[in-house]
Amino acid sequence: MQQFTISHWQDVQQDLKDKLGDVVYDSWLQPLSFCPDKTTESEVSLRVPTRFVRDWVVRHYNDDLTNTISSLIGKPMAVKFEIVAPVAKPETVQAEVKPEQIATTAPVTPKANKSADSASYRLLEAGNPLDPRFTFDNFVTGKGNEFSYAAAKRIAESEDAAYNPFLLYGGVGLGKTHLMHAMAWHIRENYPERRVLYISSEKFVYQFIRSLRDKKTMDFKEAFRSVDVLMIDDIQFIAGKEATQEEFFHTFNALIDMRKQVILTADKSPHEMDNVEDRLRSRLGWGLTTEIHKPDLETRLAILDTKAAELGVELPKDVAMVLADKISSNIRELEGALNRLVAHADLIGCPITLETAQNLLKDIFQASNRLITIEEIQVKVSDYYRIKLHEMHTARRSRDVARPRQVAMYLVKRLTSKSFPDIGKGFGGRDHTTAMHAVRTIEKLAAADKTLADDIKLLENMISSS
Ligand code: ADP
Ligand code: MG
Repeated sequence: MQQFTISHWQDVQQDLKDKLGDVVYDSWLQPLSFCPDKTTESEVSLRVPTRFVRDWVVRHYNDDLTNTISSLIGKPMAVKFEIVAPVAKPETVQAEVKPEQIATTAPVTPKANKSADSASYRLLEAGNPLDPRFTFDNFVTGKGNEFSYAAAKRIAESEDAAYNPFLLYGGVGLGKTHLMHAMAWHIRENYPERRVLYISSEKFVYQFIRSLRDKKTMDFKEAFRSVDVLMIDDIQFIAGKEATQEEFFHTFNALIDMRKQVILTADKSPHEMDNVEDRLRSRLGWGLTTEIHKPDLETRLAILDTKAAELGVELPKDVAMVLADKISSNIRELEGALNRLVAHADLIGCPITLETAQNLLKDIFQASNRLITIEEIQVKVSDYYRIKLHEMHTARRSRDVARPRQVAMYLVKRLTSKSFPDIGKGFGGRDHTTAMHAVRTIEKLAAADKTLADDIKLLENMISSS
């Protein structure tokens, strides 16, 4: 049987660092140390510096630890923890917090604050770095995000905290963090004297808990209350953590009372957040709340265009169209797909084509065997040609609506098992001869007209792989 050794432990550490990110790793996993003499064939023994760290790790990262260890060794392994305070100056040991204390924000006794470095709670350390790509200039606006963009810009430009707090909410990967960083960059550049603190709520929680553990809550409070602009990203992670929420609420109130700007993001509106105290919920709504929606097709195409240009590649129209059509609800995924294509093209030295895209992004394109309906073909085709959906059913004969209608009928014939009478009926109760005529017309036209043939191929692709 394979024995778990220190070099396995190093691999585990690396894996977890990659998986969970530096902040989580440094805060919670780095303090663990491997204890070979107490490790058995089925159980890995780890030392933790405090009961608090142990409880936190067990609650949040136990599965990550056991899974990583087990898969490395190739059999199920358990993990056990032993609390061994690090050898340190007496004050430090004394500063350990018992778990019971964590649920409260009881004032800290001055005595506990006496250790030599306790006054130097570092604000800079508290924040997260800003991504240099996340600027207003790099943000593509369109239906869905333009209002949030305008609000973010307006607030970043004004000095008087007229909208306080500013809460930006919306689904994953829609640009909330991007806009928040853009605001931070803008303020830093234009108002260098204003102190901006940008922090993820995970880090906020961690900092707060650490301040409790080290009995430095006063420093914590002071640090957070001394900024001019406080930005906390993804505040939904604070919900449900009572003590932190309480502390957050006080910080938040204090800053707002001092007319300091508070900027927050969340994945839902305050009304939809569970585990948020009512007074916090209502206070969140006092300022300006905007929702960032999924961008429409046109905006997604523009984003792809911009990102491709940033990468210095040219993305063929048909590939862009299919990507933007398939990946509609998360810009991060859209970017991820583009990155995959570009990396592949780079590696192989071939241009990006629809075929390579389809091969490479099978998971996204995966043609399903589900039944395609007349309605969805009508929706896609009218979207594509930018005509109103109801034109599929009207009797209007003008070319700009009649042609798309015929294309839709043609696609129904190709992609479904509907009969001509069915098709006629599905398009505003037309006669079956009209449906037949439409299909023949498109066949004939497409044979001679490359643009039409391409449109049809693209539409077919979009419909059959959605
Ligand atoms: P969220 O915080 O809402 O989950 P992010 O701000 O992290 O999303 O955005 C995910 C990715 O998508 C980032 O790389 C971001 O630059 C990009 N992105 C999102 N919206 C836009 C946009 N309108 N223009 C350019 N890039 C965008
Ligand atoms: Mg984010």
